Amino acid sequence: MSEAAGVFGRITIIGAGLIGSSIARAVRRAHAADVLVLADAQEAVLAEAKGLGLADTYISSVAEAVVDADLIILAVPVGAMAAVGAAMASGLKAGAIISDVGSVKASVVKALLPVLPDNVHLIPGHPVAGTEQSGPDAGFASLFDDRWVILTPLEDADQNKDADQSKLGALSAFWTKLGSRVEIMTPEHHDLVLAITSHVPHLIAYNIVGTASDLEEVTRSEVIKYSAGGFRDFTRIAASDPTMWRDVFLNNKDAVLEMLGRFSEDLTALQRAIRWGDGDALFELFARTRGIRRRIVDAGQDEAVADFGRHHED
Ligand code: NAP
Repeated sequence: MSEAAGVFGRITIIGAGLIGSSIARAVRRAHAADVLVLADAQEAVLAEAKGLGLADTYISSVAEAVVDADLIILAVPVGAMAAVGAAMASGLKAGAIISDVGSVKASVVKALLPVLPDNVHLIPGHPVAGTEQSGPDAGFASLFDDRWVILTPLEDADQNKDADQSKLGALSAFWTKLGSRVEIMTPEHHDLVLAITSHVPHLIAYNIVGTASDLEEVTRSEVIKYSAGGFRDFTRIAASDPTMWRDVFLNNKDAVLEMLGRFSEDLTALQRAIRWGDGDALFELFARTRGIRRRIVDAGQDEAVADFGRHHED
């Protein structure tokens, strides 16, 4: 078995949280590495990962963890990518693939490109799968099954083009072996698409739960006691990791603000429809959005209601 078949000799995952530990489990399940190394800034997290038996080797120093690795995946918050990139640069093997799972892509390219040596291949990525949980015990091997992984290779990479193509093929084969479907796009296009499909929805959830918890006339205990389906679903999304999501908004500012502008305009139109009793406008929109939901379920990107809380797209 070889890189072309999605199998690497030595894989290092940096960050043993939800996504890093899920990749580790999926690598094990798929036999996609001869040797799997896990690194994390915190000894306690590494000890937990070791207790769960997620890898072959556990190393806290990223510079040491990447030595001899053929594929390195950064599974840390977007705001930590530059520091991790700089810390590992001296230990990288020539020809290694450096990838990541960050929810924003253009800023990760900007953070990593200047700190990496010229003889490695940077191919950023984002598995569009996740949950609101964090940490090594929250991960599971099937997280990426049938989910999209978006790879955003650099258009103006100054490395050898043929080598770049074969490395991109190897990374695509790796994710396919882990159960995912692979899509290629530019970092900028990724950030625009994810702003509307993931980042703005999370902001809306954070906002509505924040507004409810600030209400004075309706007490916080009533919000919890009478929480109906809609609000409950928002609280699940709004329970997502604060560090990760702070970094997403700080690093995808332009696309999020662009999408928020459109969202605000459409919300104003809805406000007007309610004020003027325009039931047709409300019905037309709700019928259209119900159709979108059906298409997502039909496309296999969410199980029907029974399993709604299991996966979501980040
Ligand atoms: P997580 O469960 O909080 O795990 C992140 C891990 O990275 C933590 O163990 C953290 O340690 C460690 N870490 C932070 N800074 C580090 C550093 N400088 N060096 C080494 N380790 C460091 O978060 P996650 O949900 O797996 O998210 C990881 C990445 O995946 C993020 O970039 C996120 O945007 C992306 N992503 C997340 C989802 C999702 O649904 N959660 C989905 C797709 C992509 P500490 O606990 O000490 O901080």
